[in-house]
Amino acid sequence: MKIHEYQGKEIFRRFGIPTPRGVPAFSVDEAVKAAEGLDSGVWVVKAQIHAGGRGKGGGVKLAKSIEQVRELAGEILGMQLVTHQTGPQGQKVRRLLIEEGADIKKELYVGMVVDRGTQRVVLMASSEGGMDIEEVAAKTPEKIHKVFIDPGKGLTDAEGDEVARKIGIPEGSVVEGRRIFQGLYRAFDETDASLAEINPLIVTGDGHVIALDAKLNFDANGLFRHPDLVEMRDLDEEDPAEIEASKYDLSYISLDGNIGCLVNGAGLAMATMDTIKLYGGAPANFLDVGGGATAEKVTEAFKIMLGNPNLKAILVNIFGGIMKCDTIATGVVAAAREVKLKVPLVVRMKGTNEDLGKKILADSGLPIITANNMAEAGEKVVAATKSA
Ligand code: ADP
Ligand code: MG
Repeated sequence: MKIHEYQGKEIFRRFGIPTPRGVPAFSVDEAVKAAEGLDSGVWVVKAQIHAGGRGKGGGVKLAKSIEQVRELAGEILGMQLVTHQTGPQGQKVRRLLIEEGADIKKELYVGMVVDRGTQRVVLMASSEGGMDIEEVAAKTPEKIHKVFIDPGKGLTDAEGDEVARKIGIPEGSVVEGRRIFQGLYRAFDETDASLAEINPLIVTGDGHVIALDAKLNFDANGLFRHPDLVEMRDLDEEDPAEIEASKYDLSYISLDGNIGCLVNGAGLAMATMDTIKLYGGAPANFLDVGGGATAEKVTEAFKIMLGNPNLKAILVNIFGGIMKCDTIATGVVAAAREVKLKVPLVVRMKGTNEDLGKKILADSGLPIITANNMAEAGEKVVAATKSA
C-alpha cells in the first residue's frame, strides 16, 4: 500500500526524522490558510499523488507570496499531473502539501528495501540526491553506498556515521545524518514497510539535515497489524478494478493487454500469463480467484474483467485440487449467463471432477471453447482475439 508524501512525513516525525513544517490542503482556500499559518517568506506548493517525479512534471512549485500560493494552488489542484511514474494519462491532483521553503545546500539520497539475497533490510545512500536514482545506479553505481542491516543490532552508530561521511554530510552534521538513518530503519521495521525513501535528503545552509521528500510503501500482508496506516489509504489513487476485486477477496492486478485471465493459484496465474505471451498475446490482468472460489466470486471476477474496454477474450485456467472442476464450471456458466458474455471464452480445466466440469460446460449451450492443455489454451485464446 502506498501513501502520500505528507502522510509519510507525519510518520517520519514520529520516528524523529526532521522535515520542513507543512500542512496538507484539499482546496485553494485551505492552501492559503496553511501558508498563512506557516509564517515563512517562501512556500512550496506540492501536488500529492502516489507517484514520484512530481517536480519535473510541474507538480512542485515555489511561491514567494501568499498571493502566489493561491495562484499556484489553483493551477496544481485538479491538474492531470504526468510524471515518468504515472504513465501518459497522468494522475489527477486532489490534495496539496503546503510547506515552508527550505534553504538547500546539498541534495542527497537515502532509501531502504528488503534485500532478498542477504535477507536483510539494505540501506542505500548517495551524494547524488534529487534526481533519478535509477540513473545513478545504472551509470555510476560506485556512488551508491549500501549497508545490509543486522536485524539483531539494528543500524549501529558506526555504520550510520560511515555512510553519512561517504555521501558528503559535513562532519558537524554527521550525527544528525546517522540519527535520520536510524530513525528511517526503525520506521521501516515497525511499520512493516516494503520501501522507504528520502529523495532528496538535504543539508541546509546552516548545516541541518532534513527529509525534503518522503516515500513509504507498506507490505499489504502486514497491514492487519496497523489500523492507523490503513486509515491513510487513498482510494482515489488506486485502480477502481483492483479496489472492486479486493472487496471479494480476489487477487487482481490490471495490466495493459486484452486477454482476461481467471485462474486459481498465483503460480498457475503467472504461468498462464507467460503462456499467453508465448503465443503472441498480452494479458489484460492477473487474477487469482483463490482456493475457495464460489460461483458468486467467479461471477464478480467476470464482471470486473468485462469492465475493461480493451478486453477481447477470456481464458479460464483451473487446476482442480481442493477446488473441484464442476464447481468452477457451474460458476463459469452462471457468470457467462448473468453478464451475457459477448467475448470468446476459452476454458482449460484439469484435476478433481474434470469430466463432470467439462460436461457442465458442454451442456450449457454456451459458445465456450475448450482446451485440453495450457499450450492449446494459449494458442486458442490468442487466435480468438484476432478473429474477434
Ligand atoms: P518529486 O520527487 O516527486 O519530484 P520532491 O518532493 O522530491 O518531489 O520535490 C522535487 C524538488 O523540489 C526537490 O528535489 C527540491 O529541489 C524541491 N523541493 C521540494 N520540497 C521543497 C521545500 N520544502 N523547499 C525547497 N525546495 C523543495
Ligand atoms: Mg523526490
